[in-house]
Amino acid sequence: MTKACKSCHLLVESEAACPICGGTEFSERYNSVVQIFDASKSEIAAKLGAKAPGRYAIKIRDR
Ligand SMILES: [Zn+2]
Repeated sequence: MTKACKSCHLLVESEAACPICGGTEFSERYNSVVQIFDASKSEIAAKLGAKAPGRYAIKIRDR
């Protein structure tokens, strides 16, 4: 089950901690997924605060 990191919005599969920010809080309730290839050139990445390529959730619903 894909889940989204609550701090940086990165989507991960089964990791216990987020590989980017080290966060351990995830939500399985999110919408609007975006694929970021080059974080330094992406406006969406800047908006999300994403610093690494990957798939991110734009919106995370808390519960
Ligand atoms: Zn994270």
